[in-house]
Order: sequence, then structure tokens, then C-alpha cells
Amino acid sequence: MIELRSTLTCPHCGYRKTETMPVDACQYFYECEGCGTLLKPTSGDCCVFCSYGDVACPPVQEAGHRGRSCCAH
Ligand SMILES: [Zn+2]
Repeated sequence: MIELRSTLTCPHCGYRKTETMPVDACQYFYECEGCGTLLKPTSGDCCVFCSYGDVACPPVQEAGHRGRSCCAH
């Protein structure tokens, strides 16, 4: 079962928002609605959900674990 909703937490201001993840693409950029910072994945992560969300992105969930590259960029 793939979870499509992930709660992102901004590392700068702590603002949290639940977003629905795209299943066919990784989201590399995400603008925080709290402070306006453009978030990018930390090194080794494929998308903002893997870095800042409480649920990893769908391709990584399917792979079974984090740290696996789910998309080329
Ligand atoms: Zn923020």
C-alpha cells in the first residue's frame, strides 16, 4: 500500500503542511508557505518528500527503503 500524502516540515520555520505526492514524478522543489523558502532535497535524497516529509515518496516506498535513487536528475 502506497501512502500518497506526506506532511512536509520546513527546516527553517517549522511550518508543516500535508501535501499529496505525484506518483509519476519526484518533486525537487517546494516553496514553504510559512516563510517562502524554496526547499530542495538534502544530498542523497531524490525529492523534498524524502528530505522533509514524514512519508517518503511513492517510488521509494515501492523500493522498500529510503536512500535509493528513485529518479534521475
Ligand atoms: Zn518555512
